[in-house]
Amino acid sequence: MDTLIARSPAEFADKQAINARIGQEVTELDLHRRAVRVRDMDGGTEAWEGFDALMLATGATPRRPELPGTEAAGVFGVQTLGDGLAVRAFLDHHAPRRAVVVGAGYIGLELAEALCGWGVHVTLVDSGPAPMHTLDPDMGGMLTDAMGSFGMTLRLGETVTGFDTASGHVTGVVTDQASVPAEMVILGLGVRPNTRLAQAAGVPLGPSGAIAVDQRMRTSIEGVWAGGDCAEKFHRVSRHGVAIALGTHANKEGRTAGINIAGGYATFPGVVGTAVTKVCDIEIGRTGLGEHEARAAGYQPLTVAVDSTTRAGYYPGAKPIRTKIIAEQGSGRLLGAQIVGEEGAAKRIDVLAMALWHQASVDDVMTTDLSYAPPFSPLWDPVLIAARKAWQHVEADRLGADVAGGRGDREPVGSDPVGQAHREGEGVAGAGVQHVAEVDSARGLR
Ligand SMILES: Cc1cc2nc3c(=O)[nH]c(=O)nc-3n(C[C@H](O)[C@H](O)[C@H](O)COP(=O)(O)OP(=O)(O)OC[C@H]3O[C@@H](n4cnc5c(N)ncnc54)[C@H](O)[C@@H]3O)c2cc1C
Repeated sequence: MDTLIARSPAEFADKQAINARIGQEVTELDLHRRAVRVRDMDGGTEAWEGFDALMLATGATPRRPELPGTEAAGVFGVQTLGDGLAVRAFLDHHAPRRAVVVGAGYIGLELAEALCGWGVHVTLVDSGPAPMHTLDPDMGGMLTDAMGSFGMTLRLGETVTGFDTASGHVTGVVTDQASVPAEMVILGLGVRPNTRLAQAAGVPLGPSGAIAVDQRMRTSIEGVWAGGDCAEKFHRVSRHGVAIALGTHANKEGRTAGINIAGGYATFPGVVGTAVTKVCDIEIGRTGLGEHEARAAGYQPLTVAVDSTTRAGYYPGAKPIRTKIIAEQGSGRLLGAQIVGEEGAAKRIDVLAMALWHQASVDDVMTTDLSYAPPFSPLWDPVLIAARKAWQHVEADRLGADVAGGRGDREPVGSDPVGQAHREGEGVAGAGVQHVAEVDSARGLR
């Protein structure tokens, strides 16, 4: 376990003169007296401690459904290292054969994969139509197939209504459609910002339910700062306040707040919702807004999804990758992107995240000078192909023209236009692109 701890209290003290007091809970904030009440969790003693500046970094609380049997032994939430150790101890001592993971978000999926590695048969239950609700449902197919071949059972579109128990132990999960036997259950139902202390002390929250902060991580109370999962983030594409629980944001926000509290000047300009994960052999990346989120934010999106390969199609080890782009009709502004594929797929999302961050259009993206060599990508990287296809649709939409191959959003599954073009020595454009190029040159647009 020690190897999993990035920095111990002793290291904090030695390297940074920070007094990191663990096993102590703040139970109350008194913002008038500028003090917090601290309870020693071992001894139970309480004392008030004064402050000049207060940083709220209380994280997020896992959602736990109020259903019969939720508190039974064998039902786990996984948030802290201690939670992980509890799951591990249960596996060691009880050797369960069947587990149900409730919630097919990234934590549920990662846990499901880990349990499979322990030889446990895993059933995943989720009320949604596809795993990974942060992806558009049409991107889940590759993931669903991989999970099936990994031996997991997926029960989608089912809502958990309770847990079967015997002598205080969980024996199964009851859904609105079936009863699924299980000796252990993992809850992966997402988290909500832990704002209990802040709310009780009158620190204002934003519309997302997280603590409202400005770009310097200040709350509206003088000398009180917030960051991480408990704090609201500004989404640079939707322009809304959002509560997204990710370590990548928490770290940057902590740094920003720290610099400001110490008298410097730093800002955290917001997020675009970039995240990656891996389940079985499938890597997943997403950034920006999904199709429905884009509509909800007031955009008129169009989407394309392109199937390609992670390396040149003829090169050993080329793996499938599907790239989806969500762009704004008319302007072609990139609004979001999602990638699902095998090894080498997920981190490509960072290129699109960077483009999104700078409000690039799909036109900008498709002409970006990305690297190419057969072991790393097709001649046109999947990101560029998807951007090019999206641009093609944006232009066709604008001109009222038809995109070659129909107005479908998708390249045929399994197609590898670039690999094929490369093999055939035709350059890089697929038929659809040539069509749009013709439209362009005919009208003298580009
Ligand atoms: C299983 C798992 C996998 C994850 N994987 C990724 C990933 O791959 N990439 C990614 O970007 N993010 C990931 N995350 C999310 C990431 O861990 C969180 O976003 C990040 O830890 C948030 O940091 P934080 O400092 O805001 O909150 P936390 O890390 O949750 O820290 C909050 C701390 O405050 C303490 N606290 C709360 N209330 C009080 C109180 N009243 N008194 C005293 N102490 C209190 C808590 O005990 C806790 O130690 C993962 C999360 C989980 C659970």
